Amino acid sequence: MNIVEHDWAWPNPDGFETRQSTLYFIVHHTDGPQNQDTNEIFAEHVKNGWNGIGYHFVIKGDEKGTIVRGRPLESIGAHALGLNYCSIGIALEGDFESSESSEVPTDAQIASLKGLLKELYTEYPNAKIIGHRDVADIVEDAGDSTACPGDTLYNMLPDIIKQVQA
Ligand SMILES: [Zn+2]
Repeated sequence: MNIVEHDWAWPNPDGFETRQSTLYFIVHHTDGPQNQDTNEIFAEHVKNGWNGIGYHFVIKGDEKGTIVRGRPLESIGAHALGLNYCSIGIALEGDFESSESSEVPTDAQIASLKGLLKELYTEYPNAKIIGHRDVADIVEDAGDSTACPGDTLYNMLPDIIKQVQA
């Protein structure tokens, strides 16, 4: 699996906390353009007051479904209120909520997602794959309700999970 390392300008490079457990891989959409400059996502997250990009991985909507590393893998992310302390955040570029957008994940994005999840499983075999919207069913303090990762991608997850765990 080819993961592209990006030289992020972290506001506080020493400010990351190490995760003590990894119970979930949480799938997101970026709710933005399907192929955008990842620095824009980074800048938006800094505006939220976070220490740079909150996801551990971004899967681009480009031809190859390029996987870009965000936060260091072992650090606590900023992507799913209530479960950040025990999860890895993976975001596919795009808006996959069908009431808002006609975008669908590209085949390359889905192939990269499956490959990445398979690889993460070897390291964290007990983690469970969920969509961001599922967090509200797991913890009380999940913040505002979210459609993330959009119904189109969300409905693809059962199949993806089956294939990743096969
Ligand atoms: Zn999300």
